[in-house]
Amino acid sequence: MQQIKHTGSYYAASANDTRERARLEGDIEADVCIVGGGFTGVVTGLTLAELGYNVVILESAKIGWGASGRNGGQIVNGFSREIAYIEKNAGPEGASALADLALEGGNIIRELVARYGIKCDLKYGSILAACTQKQLRDMEATKDMWAGRGRNGLEMLNSHTIRDHVGTDKYVGGWIDHKGGHIHPLNLVQGEAAAAEKLGARIFEQTRVTSVDHHLDNPVVHTEGGSVKSKYVVLAGNAYLGKTVKQLYPKILPASTQIIVTEPLSDTMAKELIPSDMCVEDANYVLDYFRLTADKRLLFGGGTVYGGEDVEDVEKVLRPNMEKIFPAAKDLKVEFGWQGNIALTWSRLPHVGRLGKNTFFSHGYSGHGVTSTHMMGRLVAHALHGEANEFDIFAGMPARSFPGGQVLSAPLSTLGCWWYSMRDKLGI
Ligand SMILES: Cc1cc2nc3c(=O)[nH]c(=O)nc-3n(C[C@H](O)[C@H](O)[C@H](O)COP(=O)(O)OP(=O)(O)OC[C@H]3O[C@@H](n4cnc5c(N)ncnc54)[C@H](O)[C@@H]3O)c2cc1C
Repeated sequence: MQQIKHTGSYYAASANDTRERARLEGDIEADVCIVGGGFTGVVTGLTLAELGYNVVILESAKIGWGASGRNGGQIVNGFSREIAYIEKNAGPEGASALADLALEGGNIIRELVARYGIKCDLKYGSILAACTQKQLRDMEATKDMWAGRGRNGLEMLNSHTIRDHVGTDKYVGGWIDHKGGHIHPLNLVQGEAAAAEKLGARIFEQTRVTSVDHHLDNPVVHTEGGSVKSKYVVLAGNAYLGKTVKQLYPKILPASTQIIVTEPLSDTMAKELIPSDMCVEDANYVLDYFRLTADKRLLFGGGTVYGGEDVEDVEKVLRPNMEKIFPAAKDLKVEFGWQGNIALTWSRLPHVGRLGKNTFFSHGYSGHGVTSTHMMGRLVAHALHGEANEFDIFAGMPARSFPGGQVLSAPLSTLGCWWYSMRDKLGI
């Protein structure tokens, strides 16, 4: 059988851990079987291993092969949906409980990095850049809302002060989230997986799960070469789960996004482009996001293809955006280009819950998953362990199916996206 390798990313080329793990052959048992070796699956597994559970993780390719090992590496706090929406659906107490979790994912990342000594180039500080005055006004209001809920790490920037952090005249202002930051995501997820293994978790790679008997009290997970019978199952395949579990398929819409990485910059140029070495994303509906890597390359991401189709030439899509922000980048050679799938939900909040009594799922972080996966991984583990309060608030949020399923929703979402992009361009 053919081995699935990492995508040709900068991260795969600079990974700390290049080991191959065995495929599952035969029938085994465990307390918990986790499907998917990205942040969601690995953090759930690590948390449960810390609690003394006997954990098995099944990954169809390699640990971090999906979005977790190929993303922009930006630690973005908060949710992809406004708190007012959460309050409308979960009431003031529910909204308060979830708002208290706004910084949880980032805190968990820093905690795990420190506890297990994970080398993943962790840096502090992320910038949200406003392209229009309307976006800046909305950000002011959001900052005030968060301050009212006790989150005070946001510092507003105007059109002058943002230049101290991003060397472009394209932004009218923005904010710094001092509790944000960036990481080498593949090295983070691999470090977390290694930590789980040290605590006894068993990880099988190149092991695609073909079906899950989630209606059973002791669910059984089937793969091409074997099966796992366990007390609990956690489904963490996100955009790549496909039709493995048919109930979950209509709830998420895969969308691909792309990244390019340049040759290393001179120290002078790195200081000119991103002087404070924070990561940056803009506030547009289809956003640009960028940062410096540890070896001072410019990593620049953007683009969205609903349905998750790959674009033919990643550099062709992203180079014009990169040069618009940084004209000085026009002479830089692009050395890596790749793409990967995020999972969107209708509400833009993660879709989490249970199937049957003992099968849990969490997916659909809608583009901002580096922190949410860490928060949800821990909440899923705690729910399974019997402390389900916050998990149940998330699980109680409305989870609409995409009308017409993934096939029809892709063109409809493209249309919607065009509309929102126009609004961004017009500043309305
Ligand atoms: C290009 C890109 C840039 C991004 N940039 C950022 C960013 O800067 N900041 C941010 O917050 N978020 C970003 N995201 C989103 C973020 O990476 C994801 O939300 C997050 O990594 C999702 O983690 P996950 O573990 O749920 O899913 P994934 O990391 O996709 O992992 C799911 C895993 O499950 C496996 N799997 C699926 N089905 C099966 C099966 N049947 N059997 C066995 N295994 C299976 C897959 O192989 C995969 O490895 C980005 C995403 C992409 C693609």
